Amino acid sequence: MMEVRNIQKRFGKQEVLKGINMEVAKGEVVTLLGPSGSGKTTFLRCLNFLERADEGSIVLGETETIVNKANAKEILAHQRQTAMVFQNFALFQNKTARENIVMPLLLTKNKTKQEAYELADVLLEQVGLSERQDFYPSQLSGGQQQRIGIARALALNPKVILFDEPTSALDPELVGQTLTLLRDIAETGATMVLVTHEMKFAYEVSDKIIFMENGQVVEQGTPKEVFEQTKEERTKAFLTRFT
Ligand code: ADP
Repeated sequence: MMEVRNIQKRFGKQEVLKGINMEVAKGEVVTLLGPSGSGKTTFLRCLNFLERADEGSIVLGETETIVNKANAKEILAHQRQTAMVFQNFALFQNKTARENIVMPLLLTKNKTKQEAYELADVLLEQVGLSERQDFYPSQLSGGQQQRIGIARALALNPKVILFDEPTSALDPELVGQTLTLLRDIAETGATMVLVTHEMKFAYEVSDKIIFMENGQVVEQGTPKEVFEQTKEERTKAFLTRFT
C-alpha cells in the first residue's frame, strides 16, 4: 500500500532523517518507536507532506511521488489518500464535532453536503459520539476530541492513516478507550502507521515495529522479534526504560 524510499530531511544544519525506508502492506499496522527527538514525528509529517522531505520518494498504491519534485497538484493528490491524527487533536475550535468531520469531506472529497453529513453521522456513531455531535471541541473531553479527530480521518477513507502519538495528550483514564478504538480500527483492516509510547498496545496491535534513533532505523521486525529477540543494544536500552 505504501513504500517509502530513502526519506531524508534536515532542518538547517541538523540532519533529522538520514534515509528512512519503510514498507506498509495493505491492512498492516506499523508502529514507530524511539526516543524523543529521533525523528518519528518529522517522518510521519513527511509522509503526508506536512513537511517536505529533501530526498526520497513515497509510493502510495500505484503512484510514486518524488518528494523534492512533487508539484502542488501531486501533493494534493497524495494528501487526499493519507490522513493524519494529531497528538493535540487539531480540531477546528469554532466548528462542532459534526462539522469537524464534514468540512474536510466537502473541501477535499467533492462530496455533496448531504453525503458528507450522512457519512459524518455514521462515523460519529462508530466512535460513540452521536449524542455530542453539536458540541464544540472545548465542550468535549480530550478523549472525545481525539475520537472526533479519528472519525475525521476515517471519513476520508484514506489508503493509509497516520497517527502521531494519538494518546499522549490524554489524561491517563482516557487513554484506554482511545486505544480500544484504535484497536477496533486496526481490526477492520485499516492500514495504519503509528507513533506511540504505549508499548503494550504496540506489542499487541502492530504487525511491524520500526525502532528509530537519531534519524535512522536501528531495527525492525515483528513485535516478537523487536521486543523479545532484540538484536541491537540501543533498542534494548530503550525498551528496558519503557517496559
Ligand atoms: P520525535 O518525534 O522522535 O520526538 P521529532 O521528529 O519531533 O522527533 O524531532 C526530531 C528532531 O528534529 C528534533 O531534534 C527536533 O528538535 C527537530 N525538529 C523537528 N521539527 C523541527 C522544525 N520545524 N524546525 C527545526 N527543527 C525541528
